[in-house]
Amino acid sequence: MTKIPFLRPNLVKREEFSQYFSEIEESRIYSNYGPINTRFESRVLNEYFDNIGAVTTVNNATIGLMLAISKCKRSKGKYALMPSFTFAATPLAAMWCGLEPYFIDIYSDDWCMNKELLSDLLKRLGDQIAIVIPYATFGTNLDLRYYREIHESGIPVVVDAAASFGTMGDKGKGHFGKNFPGIVVFSFHATKSFGIGEGGLLYSANIKLIRKIRQAANFGFSIERESTLQGLNGKMSEYSAAIALSTLKVFPQKLKTRMKIHQWYLEKLNQKKLLEKGWHVQKTNGKIAYQFMPALCPEGQSNIDFIQRLANKKIEARTYFSPACHQQSQFKSCPHTSLFVTENLSKRIISLPLWEEMDLNHVIFVIEGICD
Ligand SMILES: *Cc1c(COP(=O)(O)O)cnc(C)c1O
Repeated sequence: MTKIPFLRPNLVKREEFSQYFSEIEESRIYSNYGPINTRFESRVLNEYFDNIGAVTTVNNATIGLMLAISKCKRSKGKYALMPSFTFAATPLAAMWCGLEPYFIDIYSDDWCMNKELLSDLLKRLGDQIAIVIPYATFGTNLDLRYYREIHESGIPVVVDAAASFGTMGDKGKGHFGKNFPGIVVFSFHATKSFGIGEGGLLYSANIKLIRKIRQAANFGFSIERESTLQGLNGKMSEYSAAIALSTLKVFPQKLKTRMKIHQWYLEKLNQKKLLEKGWHVQKTNGKIAYQFMPALCPEGQSNIDFIQRLANKKIEARTYFSPACHQQSQFKSCPHTSLFVTENLSKRIISLPLWEEMDLNHVIFVIEGICD
C-alpha cells in the first residue's frame, strides 16, 4: 500500500454544504446561473477582486480556456503562443478554437514563459498571432505587467492560471490577476487548491468581455434565447456552486496549511543541504496557493530514478509537466522556439506530495526518501 500518496484531495464535508443542497431542493433551480452560483460569483468578486471587473463560473477550466480563447482571439491570426511547459489542456483548448499552438521556452528560475523569446516572435509573426497564453506555472504569482502591455497593444492575452486561485501578490497587491484587462482562467478541479470536483472561474477587469463569455457559455443565447454567438454549454451546476460557496469559508485555512507544508519542505531541503547539492525550487514571490511541491533534481540526474526511489519507499510522486507538451504526439508537429530549458526541466522535474493532512514527519520521510 502507498504510505504517502501524491495528492489527497480534501473537499468540504457534507455538513458544510448540506444547507445549500436543501436550498436547491427548495428552489428547484439546478443550473443556468442559479441563485447559489450568483452568490458564489458575487462573493468571489467582492472578497478576492475588490469588486473590480467581473467573474463568471464555468464547468471546468478547459472549457473556460476554450471560451476565453474563442472570444478574444484575433480572427486573422493562426497561432496561439504559449509555453510548452504547461498542461495539455492549454494547447488543446487553442486547437479546439482552430488555432495552432506555438511553443515558447521558459526561464530556468521561475519556470514561466521567456519574455525575450516571446517579444521576438511578436515582431516576427505579426498578424499571424491570434492570441498569447502565458501559464502561471504551478499557481505562481506571474508578473502580468508585460502581458498587460501586450494586451493593450492589441494582441489579446488569456492567462492559464489554473492553479492560481488563492495566490496573492506582494504587499497590498491583492489577488492574482486583479485588474488584468485580458482573461484569467482558474480551475477548481479536485486536485487544485480550491478543489470542488470539477469547475472553474474566469476573471477580467473588462466587464463587457466577461458578459460576452458568459453568453457564449450558455449556447450564445441572447436575452430572447436566440443563439447569436458561437457558444457551448459551459455552465456550472448549482450543486457544484454549492460546494464552491461552502469552500470559501474553509479556503483561508486551507491556504495556510498548504503554505506551512511548503515551508517544511524548504526547511528540510535546506537542512539536508540539497539546495547546495544541485536541487532547485521554483523562484516565486507573494503568497502561493501551493498545489503540490515541485522541485528539480540536480543537473545530469534523472527524475525517473528519484520517482522510482520514492516508490520503493511507498511514496508517490509525479513529473508534472514531463513530457512537456511539444514532446507529446498530439503536439509534435507544432512550431516552437528553442526549448532548451523546457527539455532540461522535463528531465529533472519532480512533483512531491502535498496535501492538507500531511504533518512534518511525512515531509521528513519524503525528503529522506530522495536522499537515500
Ligand atoms: C488543471 C489545469 C487545467 C485544466 O483544468 P480543468 O478544470 O481540469 O479543466 C488547465 N491548465 C493547467 C495548467 C492546469 O493545471
